[in-house]
Amino acid sequence: MEISKKNAFVEFIKKFWVYLIVGVVVFAVALTFTLLATLNNAKPTSISNLEFGLPMNNASIIKDFSDTELQENETLNQWEAHLSIDLASDSNEVFSVLDGTVASVSYDFLNGYTVTIDHADGFQSIYSSLDENVLVKEGDKVSAGQQIGNASDSAQGELDLGSHLHFTLLLNDNHVDPNTYLNLQEK
Ligand SMILES: [Zn+2]
Repeated sequence: MEISKKNAFVEFIKKFWVYLIVGVVVFAVALTFTLLATLNNAKPTSISNLEFGLPMNNASIIKDFSDTELQENETLNQWEAHLSIDLASDSNEVFSVLDGTVASVSYDFLNGYTVTIDHADGFQSIYSSLDENVLVKEGDKVSAGQQIGNASDSAQGELDLGSHLHFTLLLNDNHVDPNTYLNLQEK
């Protein structure tokens, strides 16, 4: 009885080995595609499903993000990395790019009035060179697109740029290029 069972199995393999191999190959290919898709998802652009809004409407980029190339700061007369983006618009209105909670409202000579907002997924957005009439305070819940203040020339470290927003995006406390997450080039 056992022998005939074994023989039946061998006969089965002999008849259908082609299908078995095809099955294994199809499985391997499917697994490869799944792994590749997972790796692609690990790219920074798709780390988060958050939908970022814009910090200003109809804004022009007057100084872009640069972490490796140095840019001239005419006010301070020095060449420096610019880990932020400078934006200017006619209305000067500044909006939160995501839902969040205001972590701090502060002032310092170089950056002017600054609002820092905590968001989901480890993001933090920082809005500098605002005028003194900041519209939010520490602990406030804000929603994406809510006005938090107005751009000005309060950042003494970037006086040469005139009235503008110095916008910074942090991910897990590291500076990231806002262009990666926000659609800044398209107004
Ligand atoms: Zn700047």
